[in-house]
Amino acid sequence: MSDKLPLLPTTVIGSHAIPSWFWTVTEEISKGNYGSTDIGEAFDDAVDLAMLDQQRAGIDVITDGEMRRWYFVQSFYERMTGIVEEPPLRKIGLYAYDSPPRYSAVEKVTVPEGLGIVEEFKYAKVHSDRPLKATCPGPLTLTMHIRPGQSYRDRHELAWEFAAVINAELKALVREGADFIQIDEPSFAIIPGEFKSWIEMYNAAVDGVNAKLALHICFGNLSSRPRGRRTYKWMFPEVLEAKADQLVFEYSNREMSEIDLWPQFGIESELGAGVIDVKSFHVETPEDVAGRIESILEYVPAEKLFVNPDCGFFQLPRWITQLKLDAMVSGTKLVRGRLGLN
Ligand SMILES: [Zn+2]
Repeated sequence: MSDKLPLLPTTVIGSHAIPSWFWTVTEEISKGNYGSTDIGEAFDDAVDLAMLDQQRAGIDVITDGEMRRWYFVQSFYERMTGIVEEPPLRKIGLYAYDSPPRYSAVEKVTVPEGLGIVEEFKYAKVHSDRPLKATCPGPLTLTMHIRPGQSYRDRHELAWEFAAVINAELKALVREGADFIQIDEPSFAIIPGEFKSWIEMYNAAVDGVNAKLALHICFGNLSSRPRGRRTYKWMFPEVLEAKADQLVFEYSNREMSEIDLWPQFGIESELGAGVIDVKSFHVETPEDVAGRIESILEYVPAEKLFVNPDCGFFQLPRWITQLKLDAMVSGTKLVRGRLGLN
């Protein structure tokens, strides 16, 4: 894939903003007012629009916007057996990390039909001619809302169960033509302490997967709030043991801090650097973006740098998302021009 891309390729993390009409659709679906054909059509339309928004903005490597998923991981639990829903902790007030549905494992957890990411990719592939990135939550992150219950010793053991599920999904994705796959593990930053074993688990999940692999570690984005302590430093050097061609990190909402880790640890993998703050309504100017990219280029060679937002857009309105995508592409073009590449 990289041969076909310009220098400083632009991409997104995964999720696109949810259009207003699609919020209405999801309400109608939950009330039982849509049939299966209506539902399928609405989700296809949402994916088409997410890809069109990215194409119009000029993003080099697009995703399907994760429009078939709900709140990053919540829709995957509907595909699992062996879990039961528990009463919510809090139903009142703002939607935050103590709001999503919680589950408990009551027997061995299985995902008989897979995670559905292969079907997402198959649709996206035939409905866009842009290079595509497929995204998949990592094994630890998939356990986010499941308690190990009586069936698993701890979260770690449950996550190992998902490493095998993910590995099968990723290999099926490659068979369908996916050549760039990003694994999302915000939970790495949320549950620190066993980092070496988290990386072993990640490596098992991507073992034998013949594609360009990216590992996205962020600090959480629910209701545009971080959950983890916003530092990568403690993950080094262990994170470099991950079988990843690219590390995809948040920088913008941390004012570009810790970019100096790159030369400090002699990092050879690519960097997908967040140059758009998805947690802020402030819309970056192209010059803001160019400045961020140029500050990274002091530490990372241009041929190893991908340009992306800090995280997914699902918690921002669509109109701001579009403005931010436009600024990201324009800012990248400014830098390419200054490097004599336009
Ligand atoms: Zn993220």
